Amino acid sequence: MAHEPAYVAAVLGQRLGPAELRRLGLPLTAAVVARSRAAVGGTLLTARLALAHGLACNTAGGSHHAFAGFGAGFCVFNDVAVAARVLLAEGAVRRVMVIDLDVHQGDGTAAILGSDPALFTLSVHCRTNFPARKERSTRDLALDPETGDQAYLAALGPLAEAALDGFRPDLVFYNAGVDPHIDDRLGRLALTDQGLAARDAAVLEACRRRGLPLAVVVGGGYAEDVATVAARHALLHEVAAELAPW
Ligand SMILES: [Zn+2]
Repeated sequence: MAHEPAYVAAVLGQRLGPAELRRLGLPLTAAVVARSRAAVGGTLLTARLALAHGLACNTAGGSHHAFAGFGAGFCVFNDVAVAARVLLAEGAVRRVMVIDLDVHQGDGTAAILGSDPALFTLSVHCRTNFPARKERSTRDLALDPETGDQAYLAALGPLAEAALDGFRPDLVFYNAGVDPHIDDRLGRLALTDQGLAARDAAVLEACRRRGLPLAVVVGGGYAEDVATVAARHALLHEVAAELAPW
């Protein structure tokens, strides 16, 4: 529902060519294929759990640079786009919003879901970061490099609240990428650990106040060692554990 059948078949058969693999930025091993499938299934399950319980968080997902016919930027399948399309097709929801706060624009998500009036994509990202050619989300906010906690949170709050009140979704997906962190290798913003936690709390609380089911995916995050990135992603789950259930 979100990808071209030929692309899906090429991934599952591990038949992508050299140029496609360069764009993807990952070797297409059996493990990467299995992981990509699991992330899509995981995000769909996360959304179903959110509809049942109010809040659910995947510990993977957020492959927002995957387009309908090709992968890019470490993203094979666009798990959020697939999950949104499946739930709309099932009639489980009528309107879905994607709030994407990974430091990179959610270009694949915007391209796949962009023209559908049942979907609202909101991307807050760094203006000078990958991808060089931005797609058009329903609403984009391109921040200057080095934007810190205070300016970031001041911009995000009113933007997210207005989008939620204007569109009134039945389900929200939140890409909580931690690459806006000041020490991230690929980000260019300047959020601290406290800033990331405050950002996550702002999104979660905005949805909870409105009684909106919220499905969260982890998105990107880049550091020299895995433990540092894991600790940053864990900030989200700590905030979520304090606020759930609703
Ligand atoms: Zn990113």
